[in-house]
Amino acid sequence: MVRIAVMGASGRMGQMLVRIIDDSDQATLVAAVERAGHDWIGGDLGQKMGGPPRGIPITDQIDEALAVSDVIIDFTTPAVTVALAAKAAHAGVAHIIGTTGFTEADIAAIAEAGKTGKIVRAGNMSLGVNLLVSLTRQVAAALGADYDIEIVESHHRHKVDAPSGTALMLGEAAAQGRGVALSDVADRGRDGITGARKAGDIGFHAIRGGDYIGEHDVVFAGDGERIVLRHVASDRALFARGALRAALWVQAMPAGEYSMLDVLGISAIKN
Ligand code: NAD
Repeated sequence: MVRIAVMGASGRMGQMLVRIIDDSDQATLVAAVERAGHDWIGGDLGQKMGGPPRGIPITDQIDEALAVSDVIIDFTTPAVTVALAAKAAHAGVAHIIGTTGFTEADIAAIAEAGKTGKIVRAGNMSLGVNLLVSLTRQVAAALGADYDIEIVESHHRHKVDAPSGTALMLGEAAAQGRGVALSDVADRGRDGITGARKAGDIGFHAIRGGDYIGEHDVVFAGDGERIVLRHVASDRALFARGALRAALWVQAMPAGEYSMLDVLGISAIKN
């Protein structure tokens, strides 16, 4: 059994992860971590989740959680994840990162930890989205720059970062397909007198509201036709199942930073 610690255990994804790990016959939950001062600290995980006691206290002691785990699954915040990446690598514990909203510096710090530790990082852990990433790259490569690419994403009202990590993955894939750097062509959240669309730009738009779990459209708009690639997530368990799959998969891998394309074995159709 692979021993798993969940970071941010009271969160939307944290609680879903606990349920998915409980259903697994290949993994066991050994620790539940929350931020210092959170009102779940010291309580019993089972009871806090509205069920019977299960003997797993919610802790803010990361080092103790790392000491008993093979892997830690982390859907929290960028600052927490960056600090944890170095600690997990040092402790020899694999780190599955679902957190989004990283800066370039954060991504570099995680890559540094991936030189000695095992990391799987993905802005989206679902099979469908990772397939969509691959398709987006192919379609962008096949169509010329006279097809305008726009990425539209919708999430629940609590989401704090925009564009979503998934939208950025899709934007990266489209830019790769066209052989350009996303940073040179990204046009994020237009407002005001923006002027006509610049040829070759990749536009990003974020809808926030209600209980959307996550929807992404990649629009290729040409003259006389549009192609729309769409993914709709209708159950958060999808991401938790992907994270668990990554946690099991990475056990047999050497140190390095991997993506869900690696975990799902669809790297071969990258372009
Ligand atoms: P959330 O706010 O419900 O949960 C985050 C949890 O982290 C909270 O319970 C918070 O208290 C906890 N936390 C904060 N600091 C901590 C610390 N120092 N130690 C331990 N826990 C700490 O958010 P959410 O909706 O679960 O999303 C979390 C992240 O995951 C976001 O970045 C979101 O975009 C991302 N996400 C990614 C995927 C994916 O497939 N990669 C899917 C869904 C969400």
